[in-house]
Amino acid sequence: MSTKVVEIPAVWIAGASCSGCSVSLLNAVSPTVKNLLIDPIIPGKHLNLRFHSTVMAGQGEPAMQVLQATRKADKGGYLVLVEGSVVGQDDGLYCTIGEVGGKQIAFQDKLLDLARDALAVVSVGTCASFGGIPAAHPNPSRSQGVKQALDQAGIKKPVINVPGCPPHPDWLLGTVAMVMLKGLPSADDLDYALRPKAFYGKLIHDNCPRRAYFDAGRFAQRASDPGCLYQIGCKGPLTYADCPTRLWNNGVNWCVGAGSPCIGCCEPTFPDDVQPVFEKINEDRLSRFQIKTRG
Ligand code: SF4
Ligand code: SF4
Repeated sequence: MSTKVVEIPAVWIAGASCSGCSVSLLNAVSPTVKNLLIDPIIPGKHLNLRFHSTVMAGQGEPAMQVLQATRKADKGGYLVLVEGSVVGQDDGLYCTIGEVGGKQIAFQDKLLDLARDALAVVSVGTCASFGGIPAAHPNPSRSQGVKQALDQAGIKKPVINVPGCPPHPDWLLGTVAMVMLKGLPSADDLDYALRPKAFYGKLIHDNCPRRAYFDAGRFAQRASDPGCLYQIGCKGPLTYADCPTRLWNNGVNWCVGAGSPCIGCCEPTFPDDVQPVFEKINEDRLSRFQIKTRG
């Protein structure tokens, strides 16, 4: 006897981004993107991803109409997955996502439209979560994160931030799976920056295999040296993510394991407060950063 599968509608829209978050999702291994699109990734539940501006075959006005149709038909029941930051300069004129009736649709407007009637919004990557690189000083495009844009527009909708530049595919798929399994996260499931504690609950520095070097004062002077990478810019002492234990590329390695300092890519103040990337963070910045990150 076949069991009825519940469809959870979702749309993925992209603003000011490099599409790296999409690429990271395409690299998912367990489940794969094919599993995500075709199979129920939670028993009895299937994520019905209807629109993905980078990888979908559909284009033009018929594709744009899918967004509007989802908003109308599934009011209050669909997820909006957002990649990239929200460009505000000149009413969002410099970041459009398509045309309807010959009129350019600003990403900012479409995001606010869709968010109003969504179940929740998932910000995929640091740009969508906090503004990220497009919002770096001096931010001429007046870019910002999704939560900030919704707050400004007075839209009170649950937002879950899944930062990273890019985010690990497990962080995104795990977050979506949690919502499908248990519903929206409680305040206790998220940290002060609305990141799921399941993935962002621990400091990188506390789980780093080079930590014994740090404690012993043995510091690398070059990326190829053994030793702790703190003196050459590692931001692991300020960054919350499970990279040292989860690893990347199907468990092959991670930034510090490959000899590169962690650049703090999951933090709300990335990239302004973590540069220069390959220089030890100075004490003033360290204390400012800690105040911000620990709320
Ligand atoms: S390499 Fe970075 S995360 Fe690892 S112990 Fe040194 S400072 Fe901490
Ligand atoms: S180790 Fe640091 S820079 Fe690398 S992915 Fe993790 S949080 Fe980002």
